[in-house]
Amino acid sequence: MEDLTRLAGRQWVDGQEDFSINSGLKKIAAIAAGKCNRCGAQVTAQLPNGKKYCRACLGIGRLVEGDYLVRNQTAVSFPVTPDGGLTWEGQLTPFQEQISTKLVSNFYKRRDTLVHAVTGAGKTEMLFALIAECLKNGGRACIATPRIDVVNELFPRFQAAFMGLKIGKYHGREFQEPGLEQLTICTTHQLLKFYRAFDLLVIDEVDSFPYVNNLQLHFGACNAVKKLGMRVYLTATPTSDLMAEVKQGKLQIIKLKRRFHGGLLPVPEEQLFLRPFLQKGRLHPKLLTAIIATIEAGHPLLLFVPRIDQIPLYIAALKHEEELQDVALDGVYAADKQRLEKVQQFRDGRLQLLVTTTILERGVTFKHVWVIIVAADDQIYSASSLVQIAGRVGRAQDDVDGLVLFCYRKYTANIRSAMRQIREMNR
Ligand SMILES: [Zn+2]
Repeated sequence: MEDLTRLAGRQWVDGQEDFSINSGLKKIAAIAAGKCNRCGAQVTAQLPNGKKYCRACLGIGRLVEGDYLVRNQTAVSFPVTPDGGLTWEGQLTPFQEQISTKLVSNFYKRRDTLVHAVTGAGKTEMLFALIAECLKNGGRACIATPRIDVVNELFPRFQAAFMGLKIGKYHGREFQEPGLEQLTICTTHQLLKFYRAFDLLVIDEVDSFPYVNNLQLHFGACNAVKKLGMRVYLTATPTSDLMAEVKQGKLQIIKLKRRFHGGLLPVPEEQLFLRPFLQKGRLHPKLLTAIIATIEAGHPLLLFVPRIDQIPLYIAALKHEEELQDVALDGVYAADKQRLEKVQQFRDGRLQLLVTTTILERGVTFKHVWVIIVAADDQIYSASSLVQIAGRVGRAQDDVDGLVLFCYRKYTANIRSAMRQIREMNR
């Protein structure tokens, strides 16, 4: 008999009708009235045998009509401790401190909260006291984020701040045997595997793909938290649905307009291009000038291009230029096998220029970096991605400003909205 305590708060699929149900387990039809009970989607797809299955949450295991969803509601209790296991000894800035205190008091009121903090505000540190507060009372907490990169970045930071605590880390690219951890860090997809598990659920980068506008992931996030649990959303660019919840009084908003070093966000420069950015293998002279000026100023440069297939074209064009002959440059994209290695080389200064897609738009910090976005008017850049990309610049205490250049041929609503959000946060 498997120990079911280990799987407390989780839900999984079972095809068998007659397995024995003990007290902690609940069994419901996986698909009922044409809807999937795991992700809330309408179920229309059919197998050859005529049975319906849910296509929306297929990625974490197929749910077929007639299957059961087993929900483990075994009560678990974690030890009550004086400090919740927090071993971090750093200092918060007065701004961070205010938010941190407010989050703790909202936790006791179970008030769902939206933290609107500029990029580079030091959001992670502001969460430590909140998480510790939940854990010290024997509660269970989860930090979820849409992006695997962000899970990988957050995990070591939390592990360093809660040194004695075993933290669960789950995402689709790394198999972990499911365990019972008091603190879990995972992707928002993984939340579909939990049911009424957490007293506190924090969703970081809530405005980013694939969570944003994904009703199934929102459904999963709602189910993962206990009825009397608290939800906290973190974002630098709140989406309209979250702002609507704020207006309706369902969410309380707290704003942090200062970066941790007290500086403002760099305001992007905008440049209109009448001719293509790249033509017959040569860069537009204005674009080339901006690139050379950055390199000569001694700053590492992230050059954002909309699509993967453009990376080699830009690299070839850059290598063609005499002024850039001695510059170490490369390109990186999501499925690049050497992705981590290249990012590390860029971080170490072994690469001076990295041509990249939006994969490096958030969750990464490079000292003294400047950024140029080619075709900022491309539809791949939402207002939120543009704000995030601009937020890569000026994060260091000793270097709070820098170049963010939006190159465009047609001024778009997204560029306008990104500029407005940045100016608003700086006010
Ligand atoms: Zn589903």
